[in-house]
Amino acid sequence: MAQIAQIKKIQKLLSRWYARHKRALPWRKTRDPYAVWISEIMLQQTRVDTVIPYFKRWMKRFPTMQSLAKAGEEEVLKHWEGLGYYSRARNLHRAAKQIASSGTKFPDSKEALLALPGIGKYTAGAILSIAFDQREPLVDGNVFRVFARLFNIHSDIEALSTRKKIWGLASAFVPEKNPGDFNQALMELGAAICVPGAPRCLLCPVRSLCEGFQQSDPSRLPVFKVKKKIEPFSGWMFLAEHNGRYLIQKRPEGQVMGGLWEFPSKMEGALETPEKLVWRHLKLRGDAQELPGKIKAAFTKFRGDYRIAHIRLKNLGMRKTQVHEQWILPQEAGKYTFSAPSRKLLRLLKGPTFFPPKAEAPLAQAGTLFFK
Ligand code: SF4
Repeated sequence: MAQIAQIKKIQKLLSRWYARHKRALPWRKTRDPYAVWISEIMLQQTRVDTVIPYFKRWMKRFPTMQSLAKAGEEEVLKHWEGLGYYSRARNLHRAAKQIASSGTKFPDSKEALLALPGIGKYTAGAILSIAFDQREPLVDGNVFRVFARLFNIHSDIEALSTRKKIWGLASAFVPEKNPGDFNQALMELGAAICVPGAPRCLLCPVRSLCEGFQQSDPSRLPVFKVKKKIEPFSGWMFLAEHNGRYLIQKRPEGQVMGGLWEFPSKMEGALETPEKLVWRHLKLRGDAQELPGKIKAAFTKFRGDYRIAHIRLKNLGMRKTQVHEQWILPQEAGKYTFSAPSRKLLRLLKGPTFFPPKAEAPLAQAGTLFFK
């Protein structure tokens, strides 16, 4: 474990550097625990530049926890649309309702925060240190990398023992005074200087104390021993049209992208005809036309693309519309929150080159109408 003198020196150098170089981010203008919470959840797995406009829009529409608690889920998801990992938005909503219904103020203890949906050790540490000035550590991906390099740690960064060790170091380092600023300084160092791949050591304020820099090659740290296995796929996405309306389906709760709407799709059968697949999976019969372009998609361990088929249905036969389905007009699409691949399809439909001039009228019309 690090020596006290070393800890003090790193605290001082890092705090001084942060005071001079921190970026002016909208959530840094406040210590309102609600705003800190929203920003920290949005920043998980998402880049700062992407989060800024979402955060501003969110705080305008849901400025307080009570306003979020009162909102409907569809509207909450709509404000999250495009940020991905939608369980984060649903958990924010559920937690806001939970806090609002208890009639208490925003929780300021670790136990109470950890009992809320979507709040783990990291988010609790961020809220407590930044908003409530409590001496709590926080470790995100940036901080894991910074500590692995500062202390020349070569064990698998995803191993429980390594994670415990780094949480221990973070606890030892967080100071009594301005703990929130120090935690943010560590994250900022990881985001701006001690970046993944080649760190910018020549600009680093703690270079003289960095064991990774002094003793090895920090660009090789941290070490990831277990490589995630990627499974490729190739499938179809269907624009099933009947009387000018298009079929969309809501994904089941509890699944990846649960609760979001999408055009029916299959992550298989790229070599089958879309007519056959639509009959097999949707029990609909119609003439299919493959549209130009492909939709690239990535979920969990899957990476691949969808070919796009427009299926024109003369009638729906005996098929009943299911509870999780809607037939929508193109101009109604903006009311729904779509999964990422379906949003890509909608963008493609809107693009100038997607429908050649001779495309059949109704679909060409759909292309210009979808998401005006
Ligand atoms: S000296 Fe280099 S490796 Fe060490 S903390 Fe600074 S940027 Fe990271």
